[in-house]
Amino acid sequence: MDFALTEEQSAIFDMARDFGQEHIAPHARTWESDGTIPKDLWLKLAELGFGGLYVSEERGGSGLTRLDATLVFEALSQSCASVSAFLSIHNMCARMIDAYGSDALKDRILPKALTMETILSYCLTEPGSGSDAAALKTKADRDNAGYVLTGTKAFISGGGYSDAYIVMARTGDDGPKGISAILVEDGAEGLSFGGLEDKMGWRSQPTRQVQMDSCPAPAENLLGEEGMGFKYAMAGLDGGRLNIAACSIGAAQSALDQTVAYMAERKAFGKSIDQFQGLQFRLADMEIALQSARTFLRQAAWKLDQGAPDATKFCAMAKKLCTETGSEVADGCLQLHGGYGYLADYGIEKIVRDLRVHQILEGTNEIMRLITARQMIQ
Ligand SMILES: Cc1cc2nc3c(=O)[nH]c(=O)nc-3n(C[C@H](O)[C@H](O)[C@H](O)COP(=O)(O)OP(=O)(O)OC[C@H]3O[C@@H](n4cnc5c(N)ncnc54)[C@H](O)[C@@H]3O)c2cc1C
Repeated sequence: MDFALTEEQSAIFDMARDFGQEHIAPHARTWESDGTIPKDLWLKLAELGFGGLYVSEERGGSGLTRLDATLVFEALSQSCASVSAFLSIHNMCARMIDAYGSDALKDRILPKALTMETILSYCLTEPGSGSDAAALKTKADRDNAGYVLTGTKAFISGGGYSDAYIVMARTGDDGPKGISAILVEDGAEGLSFGGLEDKMGWRSQPTRQVQMDSCPAPAENLLGEEGMGFKYAMAGLDGGRLNIAACSIGAAQSALDQTVAYMAERKAFGKSIDQFQGLQFRLADMEIALQSARTFLRQAAWKLDQGAPDATKFCAMAKKLCTETGSEVADGCLQLHGGYGYLADYGIEKIVRDLRVHQILEGTNEIMRLITARQMIQ
């Protein structure tokens, strides 16, 4: 058993961290207030191979392992968790197209998805179904040319901003086996978007409803087989959950690093506040919590890479552990900054706000426990 990163993995981490520090961190607050991320950022990230991190090399992707990919998301999140998490969604979709799309669809969509001229979004949630995702109601009726979709998707990251949407829609009976995954491209007739959602965190990412009113999609836009869409959507989420977990760890690490530096400077009662043993113990507890969550995350990623039978359970457990640990650490860092932690200039309150949603999306942490417990008692 070897817990060390390889030289190549360390290089991937360093490259992503350095890119983030140069191209993301200086702008993250502006993008938050603008409510959008400039699209040329994605082109630059794609030059590093980050547009298709685990798309196969034969299709022009980077062919990295899931473990390698978590390093990228952890490192980028040290600059901005919102940007990093958005990249994760695009990658999750690119991989779904690579894994399940027809050759015609891959030929048409993947090249520009890899260069990130085309940004991809994932549409599972609906206004009436989130955790109970298999209860979705969006319909995709067959016609001679392919499918005609009608329904509304809620909370879509990149809604109205992305170039194509993987939509989970009902082509058959109620329940998971009646769901298919279909790519809907921007500009399609009948495709429209709700207003920009005003959110606590992830504010640089545009979130909108995606509405389809008799919206056509050609037959080649079906991923894999009809009726398998829910399975594909859940498989995509295994890796997505690892990435979100990594985003929490990376951003919390950055909060902790900033806090250690701040505490050495800040004086109270005649000494720097890092000299109070009670506060040193808090630092130690946060370090222990983050290091153990990171180790567990990497084990879960390794399980997914190995195709281990319990990989889904481990991805769910890692998502729960890392997102809660990340938020607790970030909140603890805010406290150790005193009033300054509450000010936007210090960067910590943004991390607290950005990380909170990681406990809710890609399956809430209650659902992560449900997945875990189900596997324990079956
Ligand atoms: C900023 C943001 C971005 C998002 N981006 C996307 C996206 O790009 N694509 C997408 O498809 N979705 C996206 N989502 C949606 C997200 O995945 C859902 O919000 C999430 O799955 C929860 O669904 P819900 O909001 O309907 O809550 P509900 O399912 O209504 O849950 C409400 C509460 O009940 C709990 N609960 C529900 N069922 C159970 C149960 N069986 N046992 C125990 N507790 C339960 C939940 O854990 C939660 O605490 C996003 C959400 C947000 C906030």
